[in-house]
Amino acid sequence: MSNYVFVIDQDKQPLNPVPPGLGRKMQTDQKAATFKKYPYTLILNHSVVAPRLKGLTLKLDPGSKFLGLSILDGNKVIWAAELEHRGWGIHEGLEKRSGYRRNRRSRKTGYRKNRGQFEFKPDGWLPPSLLHRVQTTMTWVNRLRKLAPIEFVKMELVKFDTQLMDNADIEGTQYQQGTLAGYTAREYLLEKWGRQCAYCSKSGVPLQVEHVHPKSKGGSNSIRNLCLACEKCNTRKGSKSVEEFLKNKPEALKRIQATLKPPLKDAAAVNATRWALYHALQDTGLPVSTATGARTKMNRAKQGLPKEHWIDAACVGDGGENLDIKTAQPLRIQAKGHGSRQMCKVYGTKKNGEPIRGLPYPTAPGMPKRRKDGTREAPKFRLHGSVESGDIIDVQIPNGKYKGIYKGVRVAVRGDGRIAIRPKGFSSKFDLTTASIYKVVQRKDGYAYSVQ
Ligand SMILES: [Zn+2]
Repeated sequence: MSNYVFVIDQDKQPLNPVPPGLGRKMQTDQKAATFKKYPYTLILNHSVVAPRLKGLTLKLDPGSKFLGLSILDGNKVIWAAELEHRGWGIHEGLEKRSGYRRNRRSRKTGYRKNRGQFEFKPDGWLPPSLLHRVQTTMTWVNRLRKLAPIEFVKMELVKFDTQLMDNADIEGTQYQQGTLAGYTAREYLLEKWGRQCAYCSKSGVPLQVEHVHPKSKGGSNSIRNLCLACEKCNTRKGSKSVEEFLKNKPEALKRIQATLKPPLKDAAAVNATRWALYHALQDTGLPVSTATGARTKMNRAKQGLPKEHWIDAACVGDGGENLDIKTAQPLRIQAKGHGSRQMCKVYGTKKNGEPIRGLPYPTAPGMPKRRKDGTREAPKFRLHGSVESGDIIDVQIPNGKYKGIYKGVRVAVRGDGRIAIRPKGFSSKFDLTTASIYKVVQRKDGYAYSVQ
Protein backbone atom coordinates (compact mmCIF):
# COMPACT_ATOMS: atom_id res chain seq x y z
CA MET A 1 0.00 0.00 0.00
CA SER A 2 1.27 3.43 -0.82
CA ASN A 3 0.55 6.89 0.50
CA TYR A 4 -2.86 8.45 -0.02
CA VAL A 5 -2.95 10.95 -2.87
CA PHE A 6 -3.37 14.64 -2.19
CA VAL A 7 -6.24 16.35 -4.00
CA ILE A 8 -6.74 20.03 -4.67
CA ASP A 9 -9.59 21.62 -6.58
CA GLN A 10 -9.35 23.90 -9.60
CA ASP A 11 -8.73 26.90 -7.32
CA LYS A 12 -5.97 24.99 -5.51
CA GLN A 13 -8.07 24.56 -2.39
CA PRO A 14 -6.82 21.49 -0.46
CA LEU A 15 -9.38 18.67 -0.17
CA ASN A 16 -9.36 15.34 1.65
CA PRO A 17 -6.61 13.00 0.40
CA VAL A 18 -7.88 9.85 -1.35
CA PRO A 19 -6.59 6.25 -1.48
CA PRO A 20 -4.27 5.65 -4.47
CA GLY A 21 -6.83 3.40 -6.24
CA LEU A 22 -9.48 6.09 -6.15
CA GLY A 23 -6.90 8.59 -7.35
CA ARG A 24 -6.18 6.45 -10.43
CA LYS A 25 -9.90 6.11 -11.13
CA MET A 26 -10.36 9.88 -10.94
CA GLN A 27 -7.66 10.22 -13.56
CA THR A 28 -9.04 7.57 -15.93
CA ASP A 29 -12.49 9.16 -15.58
CA GLN A 30 -10.78 12.43 -16.50
CA LYS A 31 -12.01 14.19 -13.38
CA ALA A 32 -8.51 15.03 -12.24
CA ALA A 33 -4.99 15.41 -13.58
CA THR A 34 -1.52 15.17 -12.03
CA PHE A 35 -0.60 18.44 -10.41
CA LYS A 36 2.63 17.43 -8.73
CA LYS A 37 4.60 14.24 -8.84
CA TYR A 38 6.32 14.63 -5.46
CA PRO A 39 4.39 14.47 -3.20
CA TYR A 40 1.78 12.98 -5.52
CA THR A 41 -1.06 15.46 -5.94
CA LEU A 42 -4.11 15.56 -8.19
CA ILE A 43 -5.91 18.67 -9.36
CA LEU A 44 -9.65 18.49 -10.05
CA ASN A 45 -11.10 19.96 -13.22
CA HIS A 46 -13.72 21.87 -11.24
CA SER A 47 -14.12 23.95 -8.08
CA VAL A 48 -15.64 22.58 -4.90
CA VAL A 49 -17.82 24.93 -2.88
CA ALA A 50 -17.80 24.44 0.90
CA PRO A 51 -16.16 20.99 0.94
CA ARG A 52 -16.62 18.78 3.98
CA LEU A 53 -13.05 18.54 5.23
CA LYS A 54 -11.55 16.12 7.70
CA GLY A 55 -9.40 17.84 10.29
CA LEU A 56 -6.12 16.03 9.67
CA THR A 57 -3.24 15.90 12.13
CA LEU A 58 0.36 16.30 11.06
CA LYS A 59 2.76 14.56 13.40
CA LEU A 60 6.49 15.23 13.50
CA ASP A 61 9.43 13.40 15.00
CA PRO A 62 12.38 15.75 14.62
CA GLY A 63 15.75 14.02 14.77
CA SER A 64 19.28 15.14 14.09
CA LYS A 65 19.63 13.42 10.72
CA PHE A 66 16.03 12.65 9.79
CA LEU A 67 12.61 14.16 10.25
CA GLY A 68 9.71 11.71 10.42
CA LEU A 69 6.37 13.00 9.09
CA SER A 70 2.95 11.37 9.27
CA ILE A 71 -0.50 12.64 8.38
CA LEU A 72 -3.32 11.07 10.35
CA ASP A 73 -7.05 11.03 9.87
CA GLY A 74 -8.14 10.05 13.38
CA ASN A 75 -6.03 6.97 14.09
CA LYS A 76 -5.51 6.19 10.38
CA VAL A 77 -2.01 6.92 9.08
CA ILE A 78 -2.74 7.99 5.50
CA TRP A 79 0.50 9.63 4.40
CA ALA A 80 4.07 9.38 5.61
CA ALA A 81 7.51 10.65 4.68
CA GLU A 82 11.08 10.72 5.89
CA LEU A 83 13.15 13.81 5.29
CA GLU A 84 16.92 13.54 5.37
CA HIS A 85 18.61 16.79 6.36
CA ARG A 86 21.73 18.09 4.66
CA GLY A 87 23.68 17.83 7.89
CA TRP A 88 27.42 18.10 7.45
CA GLY A 89 27.18 19.50 3.93
CA ILE A 90 26.36 22.91 5.39
CA HIS A 91 29.14 22.79 7.93
CA GLU A 92 31.66 21.81 5.25
CA GLY A 93 30.44 24.54 2.91
CA LEU A 94 30.92 27.18 5.59
CA GLU A 95 34.37 25.89 6.49
CA LYS A 96 35.32 26.11 2.84
CA ARG A 97 34.07 29.68 2.60
CA SER A 98 35.97 30.77 5.68
CA GLY A 99 39.04 29.12 4.14
CA TYR A 100 38.66 31.23 0.98
CA ARG A 101 38.23 34.36 3.05
CA ARG A 102 41.31 33.59 5.12
CA ASN A 103 43.24 33.07 1.92
CA ARG A 104 42.12 36.38 0.42
CA ARG A 105 42.97 38.24 3.64
CA SER A 106 46.46 36.84 3.59
CA ARG A 107 46.85 38.00 -0.02
CA LYS A 108 45.92 41.54 1.07
CA THR A 109 43.22 41.94 -1.54
CA GLY A 110 41.25 44.40 0.55
CA TYR A 111 38.87 41.77 1.75
CA ARG A 112 36.59 42.14 4.76
CA LYS A 113 38.05 41.93 8.24
CA ASN A 114 37.98 38.79 10.30
CA ARG A 115 35.09 39.07 12.72
CA GLY A 116 36.68 36.46 14.94
CA GLN A 117 34.92 34.03 17.15
CA PHE A 118 33.30 36.64 19.38
CA GLU A 119 30.91 37.87 16.74
CA PHE A 120 27.67 39.11 18.30
CA LYS A 121 25.02 36.40 18.28
CA PRO A 122 21.43 37.50 18.88
CA ASP A 123 19.10 35.70 21.29
CA GLY A 124 17.83 32.42 19.97
CA TRP A 125 20.68 32.16 17.47
CA LEU A 126 21.21 28.68 16.07
CA PRO A 127 24.23 27.46 14.10
CA PRO A 128 23.38 27.34 10.37
CA SER A 129 23.37 23.54 10.23
CA LEU A 130 20.75 23.42 13.02
CA LEU A 131 18.74 26.35 11.70
CA HIS A 132 18.55 24.43 8.43
CA ARG A 133 16.68 21.61 10.20
CA VAL A 134 14.08 24.03 11.49
CA GLN A 135 13.74 25.72 8.12
CA THR A 136 13.40 22.56 6.02
CA THR A 137 10.85 21.23 8.51
CA MET A 138 8.82 24.43 8.22
CA THR A 139 9.10 24.29 4.42
CA TRP A 140 7.43 20.89 4.50
CA VAL A 141 4.79 21.85 7.06
CA ASN A 142 3.82 24.79 4.86
CA ARG A 143 3.88 22.73 1.66
CA LEU A 144 1.69 20.01 3.15
CA ARG A 145 -0.79 22.57 4.43
CA LYS A 146 -1.30 23.70 0.84
CA LEU A 147 -2.08 20.13 -0.23
CA ALA A 148 -4.18 18.74 2.62
CA PRO A 149 -6.61 20.12 5.24
CA ILE A 150 -4.20 19.92 8.18
CA GLU A 151 -5.70 21.37 11.34
CA PHE A 152 -3.46 20.10 14.13
CA VAL A 153 0.25 19.64 14.57
CA LYS A 154 1.78 17.33 17.11
CA MET A 155 5.51 17.05 17.70
CA GLU A 156 7.90 15.24 19.98
CA LEU A 157 9.54 18.00 22.01
CA VAL A 158 11.36 16.47 24.96
CA LYS A 159 12.69 13.07 25.88
CA PHE A 160 10.93 13.23 29.23
CA ASP A 161 9.69 15.78 31.72
CA THR A 162 12.70 16.47 33.98
CA GLN A 163 10.75 18.49 36.57
CA LEU A 164 8.33 15.64 37.04
CA MET A 165 11.00 12.96 37.10
CA ASP A 166 13.15 14.55 39.77
CA ASN A 167 10.33 14.30 42.24
CA ALA A 168 9.10 10.95 41.04
CA ASP A 169 8.72 8.15 43.53
CA ILE A 170 8.10 5.03 41.54
CA GLU A 171 7.21 1.62 42.87
CA GLY A 172 9.22 -1.34 41.64
CA THR A 173 6.45 -2.76 39.47
CA GLN A 174 6.17 0.48 37.54
CA TYR A 175 9.67 0.13 36.16
CA GLN A 176 8.48 -2.77 34.12
CA GLN A 177 8.30 -2.31 30.40
CA GLY A 178 4.95 -1.22 29.12
CA THR A 179 4.06 1.62 31.45
CA LEU A 180 4.71 5.25 30.65
CA ALA A 181 6.37 5.71 34.06
CA GLY A 182 8.66 2.80 33.25
CA TYR A 183 9.67 4.16 29.85
CA THR A 184 10.12 7.65 31.23
CA ALA A 185 12.22 6.46 34.16
CA ARG A 186 14.44 4.38 31.90
CA GLU A 187 14.98 7.24 29.44
CA TYR A 188 15.75 9.59 32.31
CA LEU A 189 18.23 7.20 33.88
CA LEU A 190 19.90 6.42 30.55
CA GLU A 191 20.46 10.12 29.99
CA LYS A 192 21.63 10.75 33.54
CA TRP A 193 24.05 7.82 33.66
CA GLY A 194 25.39 8.30 30.17
CA ARG A 195 23.97 5.01 28.81
CA GLN A 196 26.50 2.89 30.65
CA CYS A 197 26.80 0.76 33.77
CA ALA A 198 27.26 3.11 36.73
CA TYR A 199 29.70 0.73 38.45
CA CYS A 200 31.95 -0.63 35.70
CA SER A 201 31.23 1.94 32.94
CA LYS A 202 30.50 -0.80 30.43
CA SER A 203 28.26 0.36 27.57
CA GLY A 204 26.42 -1.52 24.87
CA VAL A 205 25.11 -4.13 27.32
CA PRO A 206 21.56 -4.48 28.68
CA LEU A 207 21.20 -2.27 31.74
CA GLN A 208 19.00 -2.86 34.77
CA VAL A 209 17.46 -0.32 37.10
CA GLU A 210 19.29 -0.56 40.40
CA HIS A 211 18.87 0.96 43.89
CA VAL A 212 22.18 2.60 44.86
CA HIS A 213 21.31 2.60 48.55
CA PRO A 214 19.72 -0.86 48.83
CA LYS A 215 16.00 -1.09 49.51
CA SER A 216 16.61 -3.71 52.20
CA LYS A 217 18.62 -1.09 54.09
CA GLY A 218 15.97 1.61 53.82
CA GLY A 219 16.89 3.00 50.39
CA SER A 220 14.05 4.94 48.82
CA ASN A 221 12.22 4.48 45.53
CA SER A 222 13.01 8.04 44.57
CA ILE A 223 14.64 8.36 41.18
CA ARG A 224 17.51 10.08 42.99
CA ASN A 225 18.39 6.73 44.53
CA LEU A 226 18.43 4.88 41.22
CA CYS A 227 21.09 4.13 38.67
CA LEU A 228 21.63 1.71 35.82
CA ALA A 229 23.89 -1.30 36.15
CA CYS A 230 24.86 -4.24 33.98
CA GLU A 231 23.58 -7.63 35.06
CA LYS A 232 26.97 -8.73 36.38
CA CYS A 233 27.43 -5.70 38.65
CA ASN A 234 23.80 -5.79 39.73
CA THR A 235 24.11 -9.41 40.90
CA ARG A 236 27.51 -8.89 42.50
CA LYS A 237 26.36 -5.82 44.40
CA GLY A 238 23.26 -7.57 45.74
CA SER A 239 22.21 -5.86 48.96
CA LYS A 240 25.64 -4.43 49.73
CA SER A 241 25.88 -0.70 50.28
CA VAL A 242 27.55 1.22 47.49
CA GLU A 243 30.47 2.21 49.77
CA GLU A 244 31.14 -1.42 50.61
CA PHE A 245 30.73 -2.63 47.01
CA LEU A 246 33.15 -0.04 45.63
CA LYS A 247 35.63 0.08 48.51
CA ASN A 248 38.48 -0.80 46.13
CA LYS A 249 37.34 1.66 43.47
CA PRO A 250 37.28 5.07 45.17
CA GLU A 251 37.11 6.91 41.85
CA ALA A 252 33.98 5.10 40.72
CA LEU A 253 32.39 5.75 44.11
CA LYS A 254 33.16 9.45 43.87
CA ARG A 255 31.70 9.63 40.37
CA ILE A 256 28.50 7.87 41.41
CA GLN A 257 27.99 10.09 44.43
CA ALA A 258 28.51 13.17 42.28
CA THR A 259 26.01 12.00 39.64
CA LEU A 260 23.41 10.77 42.08
CA LYS A 261 22.34 13.95 43.84
CA PRO A 262 21.92 16.85 41.42
CA PRO A 263 18.81 16.80 39.26
CA LEU A 264 19.37 16.34 35.54
CA LYS A 265 19.62 19.65 33.74
CA ASP A 266 16.78 20.49 31.38
CA ALA A 267 19.27 20.94 28.58
CA ALA A 268 19.84 17.21 28.55
CA ALA A 269 16.23 16.53 27.74
CA VAL A 270 15.30 19.45 25.51
CA ASN A 271 17.42 20.60 22.65
CA ALA A 272 17.56 24.07 21.22
CA THR A 273 16.63 22.97 17.71
CA ARG A 274 13.39 21.36 18.85
CA TRP A 275 12.47 24.45 20.85
CA ALA A 276 13.10 26.67 17.85
CA LEU A 277 10.94 24.36 15.74
CA TYR A 278 8.19 24.41 18.36
CA HIS A 279 8.10 28.21 18.30
CA ALA A 280 8.15 28.30 14.50
CA LEU A 281 5.20 25.88 14.40
CA GLN A 282 3.26 28.05 16.83
CA ASP A 283 3.78 31.00 14.49
CA THR A 284 1.74 29.18 11.83
CA GLY A 285 -1.37 29.73 13.95
CA LEU A 286 -2.19 26.01 14.01
CA PRO A 287 -2.78 24.41 17.41
CA VAL A 288 0.51 22.68 18.29
CA SER A 289 0.70 20.03 20.97
CA THR A 290 3.82 18.35 22.26
CA ALA A 291 4.66 14.95 23.67
CA THR A 292 7.64 13.17 25.17
CA GLY A 293 9.97 10.72 23.49
CA ALA A 294 9.29 8.20 26.24
CA ARG A 295 5.63 8.21 25.20
CA THR A 296 6.54 7.68 21.53
CA LYS A 297 8.75 4.74 22.44
CA MET A 298 6.07 3.14 24.57
CA ASN A 299 3.39 3.57 21.89
CA ARG A 300 5.64 2.00 19.27
CA ALA A 301 6.74 -0.90 21.48
CA LYS A 302 3.16 -1.71 22.58
CA GLN A 303 2.05 -2.12 18.97
CA GLY A 304 5.18 -4.05 18.01
CA LEU A 305 6.00 -1.60 15.21
CA PRO A 306 9.49 -1.36 13.67
CA LYS A 307 11.70 1.62 14.42
CA GLU A 308 11.28 3.94 11.45
CA HIS A 309 11.25 7.71 11.54
CA TRP A 310 7.78 8.00 10.01
CA ILE A 311 6.39 5.36 12.38
CA ASP A 312 7.85 7.22 15.34
CA ALA A 313 6.15 10.36 14.05
CA ALA A 314 2.80 8.54 13.91
CA CYS A 315 3.35 7.21 17.45
CA VAL A 316 3.91 10.67 18.98
CA GLY A 317 1.67 11.52 21.94
CA ASP A 318 -1.84 10.37 22.74
CA GLY A 319 -3.65 8.83 19.83
CA GLY A 320 -0.36 7.19 18.91
CA GLU A 321 -1.05 3.96 20.78
CA ASN A 322 -3.74 2.54 18.51
CA LEU A 323 -2.74 3.16 14.90
CA ASP A 324 -4.37 1.91 11.73
CA ILE A 325 -1.52 2.20 9.24
CA LYS A 326 -2.80 2.62 5.68
CA THR A 327 0.55 3.14 3.98
CA ALA A 328 3.71 1.10 3.79
CA GLN A 329 5.61 3.28 1.35
CA PRO A 330 6.71 6.54 2.89
CA LEU A 331 8.06 9.19 0.56
CA ARG A 332 11.83 9.54 0.99
CA ILE A 333 12.90 13.15 0.76
CA GLN A 334 16.51 14.25 0.73
CA ALA A 335 17.44 17.88 1.25
CA LYS A 336 19.91 18.85 -1.46
CA GLY A 337 20.18 22.59 -1.00
CA HIS A 338 19.78 25.16 -3.73
CA GLY A 339 23.22 25.02 -5.24
CA SER A 340 25.99 27.47 -4.67
CA ARG A 341 25.68 31.22 -4.36
CA GLN A 342 29.32 31.63 -5.24
CA MET A 343 29.49 34.48 -7.74
CA CYS A 344 32.56 33.52 -9.72
CA LYS A 345 33.20 29.86 -10.09
CA VAL A 346 36.86 28.98 -10.22
CA TYR A 347 37.71 25.79 -12.06
CA GLY A 348 41.46 25.72 -11.59
CA THR A 349 44.56 27.77 -12.24
CA LYS A 350 46.49 28.41 -15.42
CA LYS A 351 50.23 27.82 -15.59
CA ASN A 352 50.90 31.49 -14.80
CA GLY A 353 48.79 31.23 -11.63
CA GLU A 354 45.78 33.10 -13.02
CA PRO A 355 42.46 31.47 -11.99
CA ILE A 356 40.29 29.94 -14.71
CA ARG A 357 36.80 31.37 -14.40
CA GLY A 358 34.05 30.07 -16.61
CA LEU A 359 34.36 27.38 -19.18
CA PRO A 360 34.85 27.19 -22.88
CA TYR A 361 31.47 25.43 -22.93
CA PRO A 362 29.05 28.07 -24.27
CA THR A 363 26.00 27.19 -22.16
CA ALA A 364 27.84 27.00 -18.86
CA PRO A 365 28.71 30.56 -17.97
CA GLY A 366 31.10 30.83 -15.09
CA MET A 367 30.66 34.54 -14.56
CA PRO A 368 27.70 36.14 -12.79
CA LYS A 369 24.84 37.42 -14.86
CA ARG A 370 23.93 41.05 -14.40
CA ARG A 371 20.22 41.57 -13.80
CA LYS A 372 18.28 44.59 -15.11
CA ASP A 373 18.26 46.20 -11.67
CA GLY A 374 22.04 46.06 -11.52
CA THR A 375 22.29 43.21 -8.98
CA ARG A 376 24.18 40.09 -9.90
CA GLU A 377 22.93 36.55 -10.16
CA ALA A 378 25.10 33.52 -9.43
CA PRO A 379 25.93 31.55 -12.56
CA LYS A 380 23.71 28.56 -13.22
CA PHE A 381 24.15 25.60 -15.44
CA ARG A 382 21.25 25.33 -17.83
CA LEU A 383 21.12 23.14 -20.86
CA HIS A 384 20.17 25.68 -23.53
CA GLY A 385 17.96 27.36 -20.97
CA SER A 386 15.76 24.31 -20.50
CA VAL A 387 16.78 22.29 -17.47
CA GLU A 388 19.09 22.76 -14.54
CA SER A 389 20.57 20.62 -11.82
CA GLY A 390 17.82 19.13 -9.63
CA ASP A 391 14.97 19.22 -12.17
CA ILE A 392 13.06 15.98 -12.56
CA ILE A 393 12.52 15.08 -16.21
CA ASP A 394 11.26 12.45 -18.64
CA VAL A 395 13.78 11.52 -21.29
CA GLN A 396 13.70 9.63 -24.55
CA ILE A 397 16.97 8.57 -26.10
CA PRO A 398 16.26 7.47 -29.68
CA ASN A 399 19.31 5.36 -30.35
CA GLY A 400 22.70 4.22 -29.17
CA LYS A 401 23.81 2.38 -26.08
CA TYR A 402 21.34 4.15 -23.80
CA LYS A 403 18.33 3.90 -26.14
CA GLY A 404 15.06 3.99 -24.23
CA ILE A 405 12.56 6.02 -22.26
CA TYR A 406 13.46 7.11 -18.74
CA LYS A 407 10.79 8.67 -16.55
CA GLY A 408 11.17 10.83 -13.48
CA VAL A 409 14.96 11.11 -13.43
CA ARG A 410 16.83 13.84 -11.63
CA VAL A 411 19.15 16.06 -13.64
CA ALA A 412 22.77 16.29 -12.55
CA VAL A 413 25.45 18.64 -13.79
CA ARG A 414 28.96 17.46 -14.51
CA GLY A 415 32.02 19.46 -13.58
CA ASP A 416 32.43 20.71 -17.14
CA GLY A 417 28.83 21.85 -17.50
CA ARG A 418 27.42 18.91 -19.45
CA ILE A 419 24.08 17.63 -18.22
CA ALA A 420 23.66 14.02 -17.22
CA ILE A 421 21.20 11.60 -15.66
CA ARG A 422 21.53 8.33 -13.82
CA PRO A 423 18.26 6.40 -14.13
CA LYS A 424 17.36 3.63 -11.70
CA GLY A 425 19.39 0.50 -12.32
CA PHE A 426 22.34 2.30 -13.93
CA SER A 427 25.68 2.31 -12.17
CA SER A 428 26.95 5.48 -13.82
CA LYS A 429 25.65 8.72 -15.31
CA PHE A 430 25.36 9.43 -19.00
CA ASP A 431 25.06 12.69 -20.90
CA LEU A 432 21.95 14.17 -22.44
CA THR A 433 21.28 16.34 -25.43
CA THR A 434 18.40 18.84 -25.58
CA ALA A 435 16.61 16.66 -28.09
CA SER A 436 16.33 13.76 -25.69
CA ILE A 437 14.41 15.72 -23.02
CA TYR A 438 10.73 15.70 -23.71
CA LYS A 439 9.11 16.69 -20.47
CA VAL A 440 10.05 18.51 -17.30
CA VAL A 441 8.06 16.71 -14.60
CA GLN A 442 8.96 18.91 -11.67
CA ARG A 443 11.27 21.89 -11.39
CA LYS A 444 14.13 21.78 -8.95
CA ASP A 445 12.87 22.52 -5.43
CA GLY A 446 15.92 21.71 -3.35
CA TYR A 447 14.96 18.09 -2.64
CA ALA A 448 15.48 14.66 -4.18
CA TYR A 449 12.69 12.10 -3.92
CA SER A 450 12.28 8.37 -3.94
CA VAL A 451 9.68 5.87 -2.84
CA GLN A 452 10.71 2.72 -1.05
ZN1 LIG B 1 28.77 -3.20 35.33
